[in-house]
This record gives sequence, structure tokens and C-alpha cells, in this order.
Amino acid sequence: MKLLEDYILEKGTVLEGDVLKVDAFLNHQIDPKLMREIGGEFAEHFKGLGITKIVTIESSGIAPAVFAGLYLDVPVIFARKKKSVTLKDHLYTAEVYSYTKKETSSISISESFLTSEDKLLIIDDFLANGQAALGLIEIAKSAKATVSGIGIVIEKSFQKGRQLLDETGIQVVSLARIASLENQRIHFLDEEGHHVK
Ligand code: 5GP
Repeated sequence: MKLLEDYILEKGTVLEGDVLKVDAFLNHQIDPKLMREIGGEFAEHFKGLGITKIVTIESSGIAPAVFAGLYLDVPVIFARKKKSVTLKDHLYTAEVYSYTKKETSSISISESFLTSEDKLLIIDDFLANGQAALGLIEIAKSAKATVSGIGIVIEKSFQKGRQLLDETGIQVVSLARIASLENQRIHFLDEEGHHVK
């Protein structure tokens, strides 16, 4: 998605450990107009699959997921990372190792929001080693729901997540695919995975 790539090139910075910082429009400050375009793009890719709900993980998946939900006209559920008095029983839970935080956390979704009839679209802000998406797939399995698609805003294709998700056979759509972040320079792949000159 050209607009997203332009944002990444203009506002993104490369940190130690192959981390791309996009706090200016996705992970801290959020650009609503960009999120609206991203939501529309996801909806265009996944319409026609009979998606009934979108699932994501708090907090950075929520903005793109909500706009996709608006266009697909389905509810959006975000897995929570912390239990609370309002969310402690009757939960589907999975363990997820965070690439950026370097710690494992439990993510949970209330049993009341997922059924075996659901066809889910997973949306997340980044795909690195695939742990967040695989955790959501595990939760979907616990609920006997079907995962019909996975939409990623920014994929770091040089890490192993994309391959792991492709191996599940679920359709994956990443709106920006990063080939490398070497020497602080951002190189993209096109949608088919070819290097962009
Ligand atoms: P994974 O579970 O695929 O290893 O990592 C995905 C999660 O880690 C995303 O939800 C995101 O929060 C975080 N993440 C991974 N790589 C990056 C990165 O390069 N930049 C930012 N901002 N977050 C990342």
C-alpha cells in the first residue's frame, strides 16, 4: 500500500534489534485518516469471505481493526493482556512472547464473544515472529471458531512470522512488507514478495 509505505519512509525510524518505530502514526500517536485507508484496504481484500468478527490484540491492533470492522460491518474484539475484575473468568487464553517487550504475557478473550459459528479475521499492527497471530489462532481453536484471514499492517518479512503463518494455510495480507532494515535503511517487498528497486 503506497500511502502506508510513504508514511513509513517519512516518519519511521529504525531502532536496534530490527525494530521499526512508527510511533508517529500507529503505535502512540494515531493518524485516523491513514487508519481509515488501512481499514478500507483490509475490507477490500477480505470481503466475500463471510467474516463475522475481527480479533486483534490491545493496544496497537485496535485502530486498524476498528476501521476494518467499520467497512466490513462486523464487531471487533481485542484480546486483553491483563486480567481485571471485569475480565477474570470464562476466558480463552494463550501465551504470547512479545518481540519488542521481550516477555511472555497471557492474552485473553471472554468466551462470551466467540462461537463455533464465527469466521474470524485476525488483524495486527506488526508481524515479526508470528507469536501474537499464532496466539490468536490458538484462542480461535479453543472456541472452535474458523480463522478465515489474517491482515497485517507492517510485516517484517525477514523474520520468521510470515512463513509460520503461511504454513497454517490461512490467507495472509500484509499492507507493507519490509525486506530489510539493514544500515537503518528501509527496503520493501511488493505484495508478491519481490524486491522493490
Ligand atoms: P510477533 O508476535 O509477530 O513476533 O510480533 C508482533 C508484535 O510485536 C506486534 O503486535 C507489535 O506489537 C510488536 N512488534 C514486533 N516487531 C515490531 C517492530 O519492529 N516495531 C514495533 N513498533 N512493534 C513491533
